[in-house]
Amino acid sequence: MARRRIIAGNWKMNKTPSEAVALCAELKDLVKNDAVDVVYCVPAIDIVPVAEAVKGTNVHVGAENFYIEDKGAFTGEISAPMLKEAGVEFVIIGHSERRDIFGENDILINAKVKKAFASGLTPILCCGESLALRKAGTYKEWIKRQIEWDLTDVTADQVKTLVIAYEPIWAIGTGETATADQAEEVCAMIRETIAEMYDAATAEAVRIQYGGSMNAGNAAELLSKPNIDGGLIGGASLKPDFGQIVNA
Ligand code: PEP
Repeated sequence: MARRRIIAGNWKMNKTPSEAVALCAELKDLVKNDAVDVVYCVPAIDIVPVAEAVKGTNVHVGAENFYIEDKGAFTGEISAPMLKEAGVEFVIIGHSERRDIFGENDILINAKVKKAFASGLTPILCCGESLALRKAGTYKEWIKRQIEWDLTDVTADQVKTLVIAYEPIWAIGTGETATADQAEEVCAMIRETIAEMYDAATAEAVRIQYGGSMNAGNAAELLSKPNIDGGLIGGASLKPDFGQIVNA
């Protein structure tokens, strides 16, 4: 069965609520494509107005982060039930910025993956290597280990609905993109890892995105690769280019 393409924007910390609503209006006609899952992962404060703005369109709402407890004394955090009630369907987990700037480790990331599934949210689980690991040639071992850690005690049925984003850190926000062959090599390796951990049917079902300076000019080639089922897009998700990526 062919996997459905999924193009997700990661807006990061970029839009105020009114700016977010304006961006939804700007992109509305550009992102129309019934063959693709389109997701806007937005800052927490933008979730409610964005959910309202995309109502009745083909756009799904995603969060950029959440915490693993449902409620309580966790100042500054936002819970899965809060996201669900606001209309969120997807949540980015393990983005390199959360790992590197906010110190999230694979134990927490694994807990977030399990909590997201238990709460009816679909994780977009990010993995990827630093430039040093890429240069050292050990990037595949590193990414395999990230996947194994982050999916500990996650079931095959859950993984069948999971989205994994391969994002080489050296390509995020740098304008430097992995070549389509470099991206395909790692995405194929991730699928093999899922086959080893689970089974062939699970590996066949899991959707794997590439992320890292994907733009209107390079999307079509990256997305033509057999193991790349979509993209996680930062900078270009804030511009009309995002519509070209959706329709690449
Ligand atoms: C990202 O942060 O997920 C990302 C891919 O960013 P950019 O497209 O800007 O490289």
